[in-house]
Amino acid sequence: MGLDVNTLFLVTIYVEAMLGLLLLFAWIQNSGIHAVAWWGCGHLLRAASVVLFGMYGTVSDAISIDLANAVLFTAFAVTWSGARVFDGRAPLPMYLVGGAVLWILACRAPFFVDSLEAKVLLSSGIITAYTWATAYEFWRGRSEPLVSRWPAIFMLFAHGALFLLRTPLSQVLPWSPTSQVFDSVWLTVLSFEALLFTIAIAFILLAMAKERTELRHKTAALVDPLTGIANRRAFLEDVIALSKRQEAEGRSVAVLLADLDHFKSINDRFGHAVGDHVLQIFAEAASAKLGPYDLIGRLGGEEFAIVLYDSGRDKGLAIAERIRLSFENAAADVDGRRIGGTVSMGMVIAEANLFDIPALLAQADEALYCAKERGRNRVEVASLQLVLDRAQEAGLRSRPAASVAAQGAA
Ligand code: GH3
Ligand code: MG
Ligand code: MG
Repeated sequence: MGLDVNTLFLVTIYVEAMLGLLLLFAWIQNSGIHAVAWWGCGHLLRAASVVLFGMYGTVSDAISIDLANAVLFTAFAVTWSGARVFDGRAPLPMYLVGGAVLWILACRAPFFVDSLEAKVLLSSGIITAYTWATAYEFWRGRSEPLVSRWPAIFMLFAHGALFLLRTPLSQVLPWSPTSQVFDSVWLTVLSFEALLFTIAIAFILLAMAKERTELRHKTAALVDPLTGIANRRAFLEDVIALSKRQEAEGRSVAVLLADLDHFKSINDRFGHAVGDHVLQIFAEAASAKLGPYDLIGRLGGEEFAIVLYDSGRDKGLAIAERIRLSFENAAADVDGRRIGGTVSMGMVIAEANLFDIPALLAQADEALYCAKERGRNRVEVASLQLVLDRAQEAGLRSRPAASVAAQGAA
């Protein structure tokens, strides 16, 4: 079967351009992995270089050979940079155009490289250097288990070796570096290489997707399965992280403890499943009122904790009221019946640098207890005034009891 060099040019351009666009599309869909964008651009640049090679004979050699090669080397450099980005390292701007500059110098400065064989060797050397550098970058990458990187490493290494052997091979095999047969063989190599490289990348991306799923499973141990919000452990971890931010930025935060009212009777009257649903409704209603830095967690049972970042007393009370009202108005639809609940909350404000979460939770708990005592479905703020008020209330309650006891004794 004869190789039609024009068809091969078209196939190669098509394959490279399609792979480039697909990778860019994949990056837009899942923009967390920027390396994919680099690899997409690498393929598009390679398509551009083949277009330039394809113009051989119709335009000057400076475009169809010198520029075409320069673009090709840049394409390999971009692919290499992608591998660096994949490993969390920065691309090296100087090396991005290094091969291209070297090549243009070689072509434009006759003293630099003057024989055709030497130029072929230089061109092969540059490509080998980039492919091997990419293979090395994949090998040292720590972002992936090695097994998923092997196809890419092997393919890039083989590709570099093939290019390094191009000159000796062309002397052993009956190709002349300028014949159409020679071109078609290298074009075939290029298209296959592009396909293999993309298959290798697909391997890596699949492995990454798997790893992300595993990560999600790991984090599932930190999520309360019923409500989907943080569990106690995750919440306390997040609070520690937030307290560091608070210290650095000098903001105050509001710490809230929320406990659903008469929840036991909801369970008793409507069943545990309805109770569960009411818990979900509260988590949803409260989460909807929170800002990006605020935290919410289910401490256990029907008790939740909320941290409002950058909130003083007024802002904290306003948000707490909004959460309380939103929950009061939300209701579960159970067999046509609307079942809702109310919530009591205790709040405490922590000024900057005064972040002691056990102490704050204890104070919020005091305020919560007070909200329960004062009739439920309300928010109380922990303060010195609250402590005095409660002491007075306790005094008022104990006085008649004391007098009853005194009467009994009499
Ligand atoms: P109060 O207004 O004083 O808070 O009254 P309460 O009935 O809410 O108080 P209590 O703490 O005695 O009741 C909490 C109930 O929450 C007891 C327990 O059966 C129920 N509960 C704890 N965890 C869950 C859960 O995951 N799902 C459901 N449905 N109920 C739960
Ligand atoms: Mg409770
Ligand atoms: Mg309760």
